[in-house]
Amino acid sequence: MKETLIHTDVLIVGTGIAGLSCALEMAHLYPEYRITLLDKSFDRNSNSQHAQGGMAAVMSPDHDSFQSHFNDTLRAGRWVNQAAVVDYFVRKAPEAIHWLETLGVKFDKETLGDYQLGMEGGHAHPRIVHQKDWTGKEVLSVLWNCVIIHDRIKVLSGYLAKDLWGISFEYGGKLEKCCGIKGFDLSNGNPVIIHSDITILATGGCGRLFARTTNAEIATGDGVAMASRAGVELRDMHYYQFHPTALYDRQNGRALLLTEALRGAGAHIVNDQGERFLWKGDKRGELATRDIICALMENEMTSKGVDYLYLDARHLGSVCLKKNFPQVVGNCLGLGFHPAEDLLPILPAAHYQCGGIVVDLLGRSSLEGLYALGECASTGLHGKNRLASNSLTEGVVFARKLAKELVKFEISNPPLNISEGIKEMGKCSLEEVPQFLEIRTSLQKEMNKLIFSKDQITLINQVSSKVEKWKIIIERKLASKSGIELQNLLDVAEVMCKSFKDQLEEHAEHN
Ligand SMILES: Cc1cc2nc3c(=O)[nH]c(=O)nc-3n(C[C@H](O)[C@H](O)[C@H](O)COP(=O)(O)OP(=O)(O)OC[C@H]3O[C@@H](n4cnc5c(N)ncnc54)[C@H](O)[C@@H]3O)c2cc1C
Repeated sequence: MKETLIHTDVLIVGTGIAGLSCALEMAHLYPEYRITLLDKSFDRNSNSQHAQGGMAAVMSPDHDSFQSHFNDTLRAGRWVNQAAVVDYFVRKAPEAIHWLETLGVKFDKETLGDYQLGMEGGHAHPRIVHQKDWTGKEVLSVLWNCVIIHDRIKVLSGYLAKDLWGISFEYGGKLEKCCGIKGFDLSNGNPVIIHSDITILATGGCGRLFARTTNAEIATGDGVAMASRAGVELRDMHYYQFHPTALYDRQNGRALLLTEALRGAGAHIVNDQGERFLWKGDKRGELATRDIICALMENEMTSKGVDYLYLDARHLGSVCLKKNFPQVVGNCLGLGFHPAEDLLPILPAAHYQCGGIVVDLLGRSSLEGLYALGECASTGLHGKNRLASNSLTEGVVFARKLAKELVKFEISNPPLNISEGIKEMGKCSLEEVPQFLEIRTSLQKEMNKLIFSKDQITLINQVSSKVEKWKIIIERKLASKSGIELQNLLDVAEVMCKSFKDQLEEHAEHN
C-alpha cells in the first residue's frame, strides 16, 4: 500500500458550480496560492451538471427589481431566511451572471440582445437566465475549460474525501482547527492526506438519502456528514425541498426532472380526470412555490387514492417544446413518452437541501480553517424552501465573495502525526457490498416516509433507532466507497431526524 501526502494552500472539495467558481476567482486574486480541487467522480458528475431551468437574477431593471427578487425569496422561504444575506445575494446576482459571461458562458438572448428570461414558480417576474434547458451543462463546461488550463489549479479526480483532518482538542472528538482532509485515491484505493491551510467544502446536497430523487449519484451528503462528525455547527437540515414534477417511472433511484420552466411556459399539473386542482389551494396555481405544490399534490393523491398525477404540456406544441426544452423532450422520448402528445406521469422527488453547514457571509464555518459553499452550506439565503433557480446563482455569488474576502493566512506546518493518520486508514475497496445496498434502500424508503408522514414524532423515533442499528452493522466494514457513502447518508439521516424532532418539540412548546 502506498500512502500519499499532498500539501496545498487551498483545498476545495467538490467541482460543481460552487467549487469551480471559487477556484477560478481565487487563482485570479491570489497568484501566490496553490489551489487543489477534489472530485470523487471520475467523470465530472455533479448536480450542477444536470441543472435545467437556469439562474435567477434581476437582468432587466425596467421590468423587475431587487426588491421584488428579495420579496419572492423571503416569501418562498416562509420569512425565516436571513434578510441581510438575501439582500446581498439579489444585488450581486446580476454581477455573477456577467462574470460567467466574461468567462465565455452564453445565455439565450432575444434578437435585439436582451436576455430571454424564463419564468418559474414563486417569481413575480420572468428573471431566469438560461441556455435552453441545459444551463448547468453550459456553465460547467465553460468553468471546467477555464480550470483545466489554469497552471495553479490542480484537479484530483477520483479522490474521495472521507473525513476532515486537523488538530483535535485533547478530549472529545471535536476538531479545534481544520488542516485538510483524509481520503482515498479511488484509482488504486490508497489512502491520502491533503494538508491545506484553507479547506472549503463544496460537496453538494444529499438527495440520495431518499427513495426518489432528481439528484446525481454523488449527492450523498458527504460534506455535511464530515462536518457533523467533526462537531461543526449545522442548521435546518429538516428543510428539505421536494420537486413536484419528476417523471414517474416506478423505479428507485434517479427520477427524471421535468424542469419548472415547463410550468413557467404554461404546462399544467392535472389529476386523472384532467382537472387542474392546484388553483383550489393557491391562486398562483402551477406557479406557486414547490413546497405548496408538493403538499397539494400529496393531498390530491391521497384523496383520490392514486400513485401519481400528470404534467400536461401538450398544448405548448411540438415546435415550442423542441426549441425550448430539447433535453427534456429527448429524455422523455428515450423513456417512451412524447411530451407533445402524452400526459406525463409525475410524482414529487427529493431535490434540494435547504439547510447545511452554518456559514457567515464570508463562507466561514464554526471550525477554524473550514469554509463551506453551495448546496452543502447554509448561508441563510433559502429559509424553509428555496426559490426556484436561486441555487446556481448562490453558488457563484458566495464563491466569489469568499475568494475576495478570504482572510490572508500564514502558511502553517502540518500537524505532526501525519504518517500515523494515513496508516490507520488502510485501503479502500471499490466493490459494492450487497448488505450496504440493502441498508441503503431501506434507509431511503424510511426517509421518504418520514418526509410525508402525518405522525412524524413516532416515525422519527423509529427511523432514529433503525439508523443507530445500521450504523453499528456497518461500523467495522467501512473500507469501501459504498461503505463510506452509506455512513455519510446515515449520519445525515441522524442529523435530519434530530432537526425534525427539535423543530416539533419547539413547536409544541409554543402551542
Ligand atoms: C436535475 C437537477 C436540476 C436542477 N436545476 C436547477 C436550476 O435550473 N437552477 C438552480 O439554481 N438549481 C438547480 N438545481 C440545483 C443545483 O443544481 C444545485 O443546488 C447546485 O448545482 C449545487 O452546486 P454545488 O457546487 O454546491 O454542488 P454539486 O454541483 O452537486 O457538486 C458537488 C461536487 O462535490 C463532489 N463531492 C461530493 N462529495 C465528495 C467527497 N466526499 N469527496 C470528493 N468530492 C466530493 C462531487 O463529486 C461534485 O463534484 C438542480 C438540481 C438537479 C439535481
